[in-house]
Parts: sequence; C-alpha cells; structure tokens
Amino acid sequence: MKAPPDQGVSSFIYPPTGPNLEFFAKALQSGCLIAIPTETVYGLAGLALNEEACRSIFAVKGRPLMDPLIVHIPNRSMAGELAELPDCFQLITDRFWPGPLTLILNKKPIVPDLITAGKPTVAIRMPKHPIAHELLEKVGAPLAAPSANPFGYVSPSTAEHVAESFGENVPFILDGGPCEIGLESTILDLSDPETPQILRPGAISADEISDVLRVPVISNKVHLGGDQAAKAPGTFFRHYSPGTNLSLFEKENPPVLQKDHAIVFLDRPGNLLDKNVFWLSEDGSLEKAAQSLFGLLRKLDRLNYSVIHCEMPTIDSGGYAEAIRDRLSRAAAK
Ligand code: AMP
Ligand code: MG
Repeated sequence: MKAPPDQGVSSFIYPPTGPNLEFFAKALQSGCLIAIPTETVYGLAGLALNEEACRSIFAVKGRPLMDPLIVHIPNRSMAGELAELPDCFQLITDRFWPGPLTLILNKKPIVPDLITAGKPTVAIRMPKHPIAHELLEKVGAPLAAPSANPFGYVSPSTAEHVAESFGENVPFILDGGPCEIGLESTILDLSDPETPQILRPGAISADEISDVLRVPVISNKVHLGGDQAAKAPGTFFRHYSPGTNLSLFEKENPPVLQKDHAIVFLDRPGNLLDKNVFWLSEDGSLEKAAQSLFGLLRKLDRLNYSVIHCEMPTIDSGGYAEAIRDRLSRAAAK
C-alpha cells in the first residue's frame, strides 16, 4: 500500500487530516487493517463482514479464535442489519449511544461466525470519538476493532502505545490523541432482554443502565467465574497484563517501600514521596485514574521493577470503581 498523503511526526502514526481519513477509509474498504482512536482505547480496525480482514485482526493480535470481536457502527440503523433489535434498543441507545457501551444482541445470518466465535450473538457498539465516527461514516460498513494490543497485554490509550507494541506489523495508526476514557467499553448482554447482564464493567455502570431500563441489571462483581467466562470468552483470561509482577492493595494496607518495587496510589500521597512512588490522578478522581492507568502500567513495565504494587479503588466508590478493579484484578491474575 502506498503512503498516506499527510505525514506525521513519527513513523506509522498519521494525523487525522481530511485527505488521510479519505485514504484510510479506502484502505479499510479494500480489506486493510488500520489502528484507530476511540473514546475507550485504540482499536485495530478491519471490515467486520470480510472474513479475510477479520482473520488478519486475530493473527496480528495473536488472539485466539474463540474470543469474539466487537463490531463498530456509524449509526443506529446499521445495528438492525446485523442483529435482532430488542424492544429496549431505542431506549438504551437514545441514552448511551454513541458511547462506551457494547450491546450483545442476537445476530442475523449476515454476520460471519468467525467474528462471533460461533456464538448466536454479536457484540455491537457505536463509538463517540469524532475521528472514529467520521471514518466509520466514510467507510459506510461495520468495522471490527478489538483493542490494538497483542492479546493479553495492557490495552493502548495513545497512538504511541500502538506503535510501541506492534511496530511495522501495524504500519497505519490514525492519531486521535489520548483516549478520553482509557478503559474498554461496558459490555451489556441483551440477548435475553428480560435479564440484562453486564459481562464486562466499564465507564457506564450497571446502576445507570438499570435506571434507564427500569429493571435490575445483573452485574457480576465477582468476575472470572466459569459461567460468565463462557458468556464473554475474553473475560476469562489473565488480561491487560504488564510483564512485571503486579500486586494489588487496598488503601488501608499499603505495602512497605522496597528499592526495586514501584508503588502506584490512586491519588497523590501526602507524605510518602520517593522515586518509586507513582499516582494515577492528582485528586483521586477515578475518571482521571482510568485515563492514566494503562499508560502508567506500560511505562512502569519498561522500568524493570521486580513488582508493581497498585492501589485498588474501594468497591463502593461507585462509577468507575468496578471497572478499574476488574482490569486490575485481571492484570494481576496468575
Ligand atoms: P475487545 O477485546 O475490547 O474488543 O472486547 C471483546 C470482548 O467482547 C470479548 O473478549 C468478549 O468478552 C466480548 N464479546 C464479543 N462478542 C461477544 C458475544 N457475541 N457474546 C459475548 N461476549 C462477546
Ligand atoms: Mg482487548
């Protein structure tokens, strides 16, 4: 493939200029893979209804075929081409789309088994990031776009993270700046609309969804269970993991500082300042902690500590707490 029209400041990373978006949309239409920004994390995008493109996504990521892909769409009407829409579809998407909410719906035959790992359901999301949205509109077709990282490693929340992980294996990265949310989407299973269930916590909480649907939403606070793992295969694995050993602590039990260990607090610690002490947000805001989490884990992973200790938000701190706890627990899983 020839080079995009507008060069960026480093190899593989390209600015989202009009001519570049035009170029990347055509490249996607012809079956190429492009890394794209979304409000959650960067995705490795390819045509969802093209088996060859989807196969290359699995291959480049080293992702097992049993881990299904999320399909990204530019508008709500495209969802109806891919899946049976439940009665609550309008209500839920009026409130949360475009945005960081993936819906699991019963699929139509047009969706290849490859992308759903043979399941009768398909995962669909309409992203809010303006560049993802513009690109999807230009392509005019659904895009599969799992996180743009090697399978199991920490997800990318900047274009540089994608380049670091893949180098020339993903030579086209569209730069949309740091991701606003920094955590993967909430996954809501609506395949049985009577019993909506969260399969992966994210920025949109079970309580917010429950308020809109006016029914209880099952949220599996204890994840890694067998049943949930079978429902959302990718949530089964040790995942989002740095190479360095990760050890988790609660606020009331901070670890003792050791010279080859890093300690990560949720907010700036008052007294314990040391070169091995880090924090995720200045004021303890969990939204900011989520934004910086994957970037800090990646940075510390390069610094050769023998252990990274990381503070978990308390369970009842609401909002993003459950999603951050979920990612940290899986990153620390053996
Ligand atoms: P990501 O790696 O962020 O693209 O998220 C993909 C995850 O979405 C998978 O690992 C599954 O947990 C979930 N997922 C995708 N498709 C389905 C599906 N049809 N049914 C249940 N979960 C799904
Ligand atoms: Mg992923």
